[in-house]
Amino acid sequence: MITFYPGPSKVYDEVGRYLHEAFESGVISANHRSTAFMQMLEDAIRNLKTKLNVPDDYEVYFVSSATECWEIIAENLISDASLHIYNGAFGEKWMEYTQKLTGSARSCFFEANEEPDLNAVTKLAANEIICLTHNETSNGTALTSEFLNTLRAQCENIIAVDATSSMAGVVLPWDSADVWYGSVQKCFGLPAGMGVMIVSPKAVERAIAVGNRSHYNSLLFIRDNFLKFQTPYTPNTLGIYLMGRVMKQVLPIETVAEQTHKRAQDWYKFLPENGYRLLVENEAVRSETVVAVKDSKERIVAIKKAALQAGIVLGNGYGKDKEVSFRIANFPAITDSEIRTLKDFLVSFSSK
Ligand SMILES: *Cc1c(COP(=O)(O)O)cnc(C)c1O
Repeated sequence: MITFYPGPSKVYDEVGRYLHEAFESGVISANHRSTAFMQMLEDAIRNLKTKLNVPDDYEVYFVSSATECWEIIAENLISDASLHIYNGAFGEKWMEYTQKLTGSARSCFFEANEEPDLNAVTKLAANEIICLTHNETSNGTALTSEFLNTLRAQCENIIAVDATSSMAGVVLPWDSADVWYGSVQKCFGLPAGMGVMIVSPKAVERAIAVGNRSHYNSLLFIRDNFLKFQTPYTPNTLGIYLMGRVMKQVLPIETVAEQTHKRAQDWYKFLPENGYRLLVENEAVRSETVVAVKDSKERIVAIKKAALQAGIVLGNGYGKDKEVSFRIANFPAITDSEIRTLKDFLVSFSSK
């Protein structure tokens, strides 16, 4: 079975070997306050920062999931309000989670085929946080670096970005936001069970000003521990080991992103040429890591079923277009030969 599900998704082929290495090394039996663990955590963070080109002064924390980051942000960084700019299901969920916790989440919805309207971002309160979804996994759209850079230049507010299905697959404009987060089961090509949170010095300052030390998700408490290469609770040691190992293996993000870009261009050309309709019409806002295809409900059911029979898992639709779309992950761990298999299947299905 090969999978194109956009999360949990295909893990790097080498993960099998690394699992065995982790066992052999003994580190997965080590105490999380031991030197062996701390060294391993330090290596994992260093490898990640090096390969993804994260600015030196941004800090990296491993948490449980991207969903947990919604809570961490709400409890530690939002003192007044938050403005959620989104066009799909994940951005909306983030807003809803935040609204339940803070009661002060504002929505700014935009259409899937459009870029968000920067004019909507002018009436911000001084401490309001801007929340964006870099790659909207539900509908296969993405924000451009130009948009993020322009937004950054236009206001002083803290910007938090959900990059769950793009981090480690494309180049992110780190300096254009203060909080970036994702989870490992997407472009990282790792088994599910961990979130990655990357924060700027300005976000740390805000967390200090807010001063939350009373929750499990206290960012200050998480940070105190990570500064010592420890974690507040007994962590996912195996997940951290695999992160360090995979980040050591992968090529620098510029190279990985080049491949993601080429493969995405190729999908966006191949699909319409072979009778498939793309969910996102505006090329400028198409995601490079999640490709969404639109069709009738009946045909979507038929394609997914035939794919399964051919040993291929396609991603279900998600959110509003759940029934009338399927999604193809364009994540780095997927091999050229797997892509060829899917293309052959799609060609033969459409010619029926
Ligand atoms: C997958 C996903 C999430 C949720 O990730 P979890 O690891 O399940 O918490 C959040 N946001 C986006 C954009 C996603 O793609």
